[in-house]
Amino acid sequence: MPFLEINDLEKVYKDFTLSASLSVEEGEMLCIIGPSGSGKSTLLSLIAGLESPDGGTIVLDGTDITSKRIQERGIGMVFQDFTLFPSMNVQKNIEFGMKAPKGERKKTTEALLSLVGLEGYGKRSVTSLSGGEAQRVQLARALAAEPRVLLLDEPLSALDAPLRKSIRSAIRAIHDTLGITMLYVTHDREEAFAISDSILIMNGGKCVAKGSAEELYRHPKDLFTAFFTGEGTAIPATLVYEGMDGMLFFRPEDAILSEEPVDPEMYPVHIVLGGAEILSAEFTGSGYMLGIDYQGYPLLVHSATKPRRRTVSVMILRESALNIS
Ligand code: ADP
Repeated sequence: MPFLEINDLEKVYKDFTLSASLSVEEGEMLCIIGPSGSGKSTLLSLIAGLESPDGGTIVLDGTDITSKRIQERGIGMVFQDFTLFPSMNVQKNIEFGMKAPKGERKKTTEALLSLVGLEGYGKRSVTSLSGGEAQRVQLARALAAEPRVLLLDEPLSALDAPLRKSIRSAIRAIHDTLGITMLYVTHDREEAFAISDSILIMNGGKCVAKGSAEELYRHPKDLFTAFFTGEGTAIPATLVYEGMDGMLFFRPEDAILSEEPVDPEMYPVHIVLGGAEILSAEFTGSGYMLGIDYQGYPLLVHSATKPRRRTVSVMILRESALNIS
């Protein structure tokens, strides 16, 4: 049985319905991504017990926690907004809700501060902390309650990019040290790719796909997942294979260009689209992202060099072109 099992969980708002089923293994670092308004925060609020569902169950390690009180669920939470108590110093904030017995609290606080990289911060006033430090304290405070699952709702979105990168690595390192199960909502695909064991994609209140970043990027099962995990091209399959339904999807890096005419017979491992027109070339650092027209369909192809001709053949690696409906 999975560690955390969410079965047909429902929440109905006026203009929105969440309807989610999901399994999470013990110790899994699951990142949840999806467009704004797809239900990511609602899902976390239901798991935490901040909202009550209209149907379905949440089972944690074999126990149904659907109607348990927030404090009895064994679930911790870190939010985007800094929700520390401003009148208490760092140590008092961390001790709030701490499980450890009184005599061990100081030591436990010190250990937690060291875990989040803030040794010696105990006596500091919370209001004197930078945004990054405040998020580290929030993390320590959530961990002090010894939750079995830690939920993080866009914890880094208020921070600037370099800080986000360093704290996301710290969060992953803490995950690895403690082996704690984490559900981490982010709007940043790169962040999810970087730190997750697995990714859940949500859209319109539903769980669309779940898998490792690599699985979802390389073998998406639907076009929404394909485009949400990175750039790519979808063209009707009939353009290439007679009578085949659905769309062919490929990533920009799975195609190459030939500026000379190509005999398709000589390239059996490629799909050859001849007479394609280059419309734009954007420098990406590692090369050029080319916008190409093929019989009225837009293609996106990455090329290490800038082509000199306007009319080219696009050669897509056959085995990487996915047939997706
Ligand atoms: P996400 O986190 O993916 O951006 P949310 O879970 O915050 O999405 O919101 C999903 C949808 O549910 C949105 O359309 C939002 O307006 C709606 N919603 C969230 N909370 C409430 C509420 N308390 N009352 C009514 N609608 C809500």
